[in-house]
Amino acid sequence: MKKRTSLWIMVLSALIIFRCGTEDDERYIAPQQPYVDLAQDTELYDYLDCQGFDLTDAKLYDEHVLVEGDLYIRLDVIRKKIEEGKQDISAGRTSQFVVNTGSVVDFNNVLNIDYFIDNSVGPIPGDWEGAIDAATQDWEDISSCRVSFNEVATAGAADIIFYADNDTALPACARNLGGAYAAAEFPADGQPGSWISINDADPSATQGNRETVIRHEIGHTLGFRHDDPINGNDELVNYTSTTTPPACGNDVLGANKLVGTPTSDGSSIMIPVFGTSTTIDFSSNDEEASIYLYPAGYSAPVISSLTQYYASPTTKDVKVTMSYQSVRMYRYRVERLPPWSSTPVQTNEYTTTGSTFWLYDVPHGTWDFRITSLNYARDATMPGIKKQVTIQ
Ligand SMILES: [Zn+2]
Repeated sequence: MKKRTSLWIMVLSALIIFRCGTEDDERYIAPQQPYVDLAQDTELYDYLDCQGFDLTDAKLYDEHVLVEGDLYIRLDVIRKKIEEGKQDISAGRTSQFVVNTGSVVDFNNVLNIDYFIDNSVGPIPGDWEGAIDAATQDWEDISSCRVSFNEVATAGAADIIFYADNDTALPACARNLGGAYAAAEFPADGQPGSWISINDADPSATQGNRETVIRHEIGHTLGFRHDDPINGNDELVNYTSTTTPPACGNDVLGANKLVGTPTSDGSSIMIPVFGTSTTIDFSSNDEEASIYLYPAGYSAPVISSLTQYYASPTTKDVKVTMSYQSVRMYRYRVERLPPWSSTPVQTNEYTTTGSTFWLYDVPHGTWDFRITSLNYARDATMPGIKKQVTIQ
């Protein structure tokens, strides 16, 4: 995330650069780490533009692309996704934006995420170790969310490593963050992003701000994108296009709407820019989104009623009404099976927040019906008990 810089600081900086620049321009033009403007790689640029990223100042490094100030995406992941031409356009969009189902962390990998605080973090003026401990605890405290953390003593045992941005163990692109508080890597291969880089200049003015920064960066490592990435990117067009394939090509990393969260949430932990004294806690939508991706305890859905409606002389439309206990899952799959079979012959999947689902044109006869609840990535499922009905 980026720091909101006062205008006078920017003016002062400009003056300093201008004055020094008269002596040796090259010194001030050369970047601290080798990168090129992302626009030089048309394929990558167009692709990420289609994903809705704000590519202002986007940079292409040896192994990463930096977008939106603090978000590093592994180059091999993007290239692979482009190759696969993978589509996931079924999901819509909202303020709680997440990457595609295949790019989030595997359900089984969010329990006891091992993290290590590198020695480089200690010398940063603010209490960042305290902020890391608090923020990881805050993630654990989201009710009904499976995400939990475990601090380990060695980097080799860690899933996520926290570094100061001066540490040479970081990828070159993640060092010397400049105007950002911190930066993080997206998930890859079903694992959380492997590093979080913290600005050793400690731009934060309060401990609450440092904790906010870490809560936000952990969100990135778990697959959360920035709040409201629509701005200026025509992303809305890309993601609501009814043409097949959508006008802007395939959706790979994704900026997917989670049904049930609003179209705008300015109080989300994932807003990209905030002041140095700002503290942000998880909004209710952040919490709901976290449960949708990584649910903890959840119960089997129960079919409360099956109602038949005339469809044709030989078929009926069947309305299936469900009840669930306490935690709503992100998806519900309704199935029709031959009696005592485990193989469905008809399936519909819903992400609505309602409790009524349909199977259309069900042939006359005796059938089992079943509802299964699933999380966003469909790697956590809970089938309900089958209910047998004769359609006639
Ligand atoms: Zn961010």
